[in-house]
Amino acid sequence: MAITIVHNGRLITPLAGTAATGHVLIENGRVAGIGPGALLDVPDATYIDAAGGFIGPGFIDVHVHGADGHDAMDATPEALHAIARYKARHGVTGFLPATMTDAGDAIRAALANIGACEGAVDDGAAILGAHIEGPYFSVEQKGAQPGAYIRRAAPQEYEAWFDLCTVGVFSVAVEYPEHLPLVAYARQRGAAASVGHSGASYEQVLNALPWGLNHVTHTYNGMSGLHHRTPGVALAALAVPDLYAEIICDMHHVHPAMVDLAVKSKTPARAVLITDAIRATGLPDGEYMLGKQTAIVRDGLPRTPEGSLAGSSLTMDAALRNVLGATGVSLAEAWRMASLTPAESIGIDGRKGSLAVGKDADLVVLDEYLEVVLTMVKGKVVYRRA
Ligand SMILES: [Zn+2]
Repeated sequence: MAITIVHNGRLITPLAGTAATGHVLIENGRVAGIGPGALLDVPDATYIDAAGGFIGPGFIDVHVHGADGHDAMDATPEALHAIARYKARHGVTGFLPATMTDAGDAIRAALANIGACEGAVDDGAAILGAHIEGPYFSVEQKGAQPGAYIRRAAPQEYEAWFDLCTVGVFSVAVEYPEHLPLVAYARQRGAAASVGHSGASYEQVLNALPWGLNHVTHTYNGMSGLHHRTPGVALAALAVPDLYAEIICDMHHVHPAMVDLAVKSKTPARAVLITDAIRATGLPDGEYMLGKQTAIVRDGLPRTPEGSLAGSSLTMDAALRNVLGATGVSLAEAWRMASLTPAESIGIDGRKGSLAVGKDADLVVLDEYLEVVLTMVKGKVVYRRA
C-alpha cells in the first residue's frame, strides 16, 4: 500500500504536548513514523499539507445518539452510516452509537444493527460498538429517557445484548442491588460499566466500585448532585480518582465553572468529552423525535416538552473549543480528553486515541481556529473541507 505523509502542521501528542511543526508518515493504515520538520522526497508518497494547522489524533465520541436526521434507535444501516459521515465532518474517527430506554425489541434491533455495521464506514467515522444507555435507570433521574420503559435489570434480558455487538459502555443506575451483578457482567464482557441516570448516594456509588464500576455517564446530568450533606453520584464521579467521567461541554448542560471543577478533579486523564448528540444535530431548530419522545430544539438546544434537556446538538470539535474556554487546560490536554482518554475509557487505546507508531492512522487536521480541515480513518481520508 502506498505511503501517505501528513505534514506542515503542529503535532498534537497528548503525552508530550504540542510539538513543533512536524510530519506523520502513514503506511498500511497505520502510523509508521512521526517526526519534526518535513519529510520530503519519499518516492510515490501522497502528501497532505496541513497548512500550518494542527495534526492530532481523531476524536472518539463514546456517547452519541444521532445526527443529521438519524438516530441509532432507527436501527437501520442508513441511519448509522449517515451519523458516521456527519461525525467525520467534525473530526470524529470512531464513535459508540447510543441506544435509549425502550422496549426490549427496539433495543435488540438497534444493537443487532450496530453489530452488523461495526467497523469502517465509507466517508465516515468508524463504528466502534454500542453505548447501551438504559433501560435500567432511576425514574427520578430519567432526564429525556422515557419513564414508562425504565425497569430493573434482568440477566435473561441484558446478557443476550452482549452477543449482538461490541458493547463499549453500559450505563446503569447502581442504587438497586440487583444492578450490581450487571456492573460485574459488563466488565467481564469487555464493556465499561457506567453509573448514569441514577439517584444513588455517594456511598452507593462507592459500594459499586468493587463490582467493577469504572465510568460515569454525562457527569452532573441525570444524577444526584453535589449537596454538601448528601453528596450523590456527582461527587463520587469527581472524588473517586479512577472513574472516567463523561462531560457534555456544550456550555448549557453544565456551567463552565462546573466543567472546570470536573476537569481539575479528574485531570485530563479521566475526563471524557462526549456529545450526547441527537438526531437534530446539524439541522435547523424544530421538533424531532428522540427515541419515542419529542425533542423541541430552540437555539440548537433540545428539550423535552416538559423542559428537560434532551441530549445535545454538540459536536466534538466544538466541545474541544468549549473546554478550552471553560478551563485552563492546554490544547494538548483538551485534545487528550477528546481522543486518548475516551479510548482508554473503553479499552481501545492499544490501537487508537493518540498519534503513535503502530496505532491506527486515525487523525484530524484542524486550522488555527480549531475548525476541522481533514479527517482520516486508518489512513483513508474520509472528510476534506471544500
Ligand atoms: Zn443520558
